[in-house]
Amino acid sequence: MDNKEKVFETIRRLKRLYPNAKTALSFSNPFELLVATILSAQTTDSHVNKVTEVLFKKYRSVEDYANVSIERLQTDIRSINFFKTKAKNIHEAAKMVIKKYNSKVPKTMEELIELPGVARKTANIILSNAFGINEGIAVDTHVKRLSFRLGLTKNDDPVKIEKELIELTPKKEWGNLSHLLILHGRNVCLAKKPKHDECVLFDICPSRNI
Ligand code: SF4
Repeated sequence: MDNKEKVFETIRRLKRLYPNAKTALSFSNPFELLVATILSAQTTDSHVNKVTEVLFKKYRSVEDYANVSIERLQTDIRSINFFKTKAKNIHEAAKMVIKKYNSKVPKTMEELIELPGVARKTANIILSNAFGINEGIAVDTHVKRLSFRLGLTKNDDPVKIEKELIELTPKKEWGNLSHLLILHGRNVCLAKKPKHDECVLFDICPSRNI
C-alpha cells in the first residue's frame, strides 16, 4: 500500500469510527472561533471551552474585544497558559479585523496569517471550520504524531508535514483528515501509551509494535 492509499484507507476507517468529527472548540461565529483557537495554543480544548463559555457571554462582538482594556481581558482569561500574550493578540486582532476587514474575519490564508496570534495552523482551523474552505491541513501535535507513526512523514516541522499531507490527500478531505487524526490521537493513538490493540489502523500502521 503506498502512502496515498494509506491516507485514503485511514480516512475511510476513521470516518466510520468518528462520523461527526469536527473541532472540539465551542463557537457560534468566526470571530469566536478565532478567539478560541488563539486561546487553545498549549491548552486543552476542554479548558478553552470552559473559559469561553463565560467569555463569549461577556464579549458579544469584535468591537467588545477591541474596546476593552488588555488588562481586563487578561484577567478574564487568566487561567489559560500564556494569557498575557494571548489577550494582547486577541485585542490587536479585533482592532485589525474592524479596521481592515469591516469587522468580518477574513477568508483567505494570506489575510488571516497577518492577524496577531494567527499562524498557518490557526488559519487552517478557521478556514475549514468557520467557512468550510479547505486551503491547507491544520497540523497540531496529534496530526504530527500520527502522521509520523503511520509512516506518512519523516519530518518534524509542521509546515513540511502539511505539504506532504496535502500531496497525499484529496482536497475535499483536508479538513476532515485533521479532525480525524486529532480524535484518534486523543482516544487511541495516545502520545505515551498508544492503544495498538484497539486501533482500527493496526494492520496498516508501521508503528504498531512501538
Ligand atoms: S497502530 Fe498504534 S501507533 Fe499505529 S495508529 Fe494505531 S495506535 Fe497509533
